[in-house]
Amino acid sequence: MISREAPRALVAGNWKMNGTTASLGELRLLATMLEGVELDCDVMVCPPASLLMAAHKLFRSGIIRLGGQDCHPEPHGAHTGDLAAEMLKDAGASAVIVGHSERRINHQESDGLIRAKAQAAHRAGLVAIICIGETLEERKQGHTMRVIDEQVKNSVPEKARGENTIIAYEPVWAIGTGLTPSPGEVGLVHAHIREKLVGLIGEPARAVPILYGGSVKPSNAGELLAIDNVNGALVGGASLKAADFIGIIKTYS
Ligand code: PEP
Repeated sequence: MISREAPRALVAGNWKMNGTTASLGELRLLATMLEGVELDCDVMVCPPASLLMAAHKLFRSGIIRLGGQDCHPEPHGAHTGDLAAEMLKDAGASAVIVGHSERRINHQESDGLIRAKAQAAHRAGLVAIICIGETLEERKQGHTMRVIDEQVKNSVPEKARGENTIIAYEPVWAIGTGLTPSPGEVGLVHAHIREKLVGLIGEPARAVPILYGGSVKPSNAGELLAIDNVNGALVGGASLKAADFIGIIKTYS
């Protein structure tokens, strides 16, 4: 019999280009707040790469998992300023975000490159958190599902499974704007992503977590995270302060 149990949820914080060693205090605070709290989700923070090792030393207990924010497709070589997935793993990460819209837009990253980065994550033993999502223009023109279809088809590796891949649906217009799609709209897109994934890799797709990202905060987390096929959140701004982030995480307590 095929199990239709929902994948384990994840609440992941994307610190983007924010944080110095002074910010490690927020991580310490978060770990203290999480102590003894029974959660139905995993918790992850993706700090800037400069903080990964220090954060790893703080969280040897494993209470908070760590992720990188990007990686190069190659394992090593002449790529000044880039980091290999293997290096992130070595620094203590268990996952890496690939294809965030800020990288798709600011660095002109293509779906093909993003798939190569996801494959690099798999090669290094990291979970690839693959971001997809439409722009406001695309949504206004009624192209949301078409954009999602293309991004899933071209940026998700065929070897994606529940244990090595997470999809983050992040409407570009909802990131950092305070705007969110309605719960009904989120539900439709997540169900569509699930079916598209099943079309791509078959039944194992049902075990792949699909996170929602875009202006998640303590006040809307309950509503967004209760939607079918929403298996957690990728959180930007509200993950920088432990007090806000815990307010989202506690939706799963
Ligand atoms: C993000 O950038 O991944 C994100 C979801 O940002 P915010 O929560 O700030 O909208």
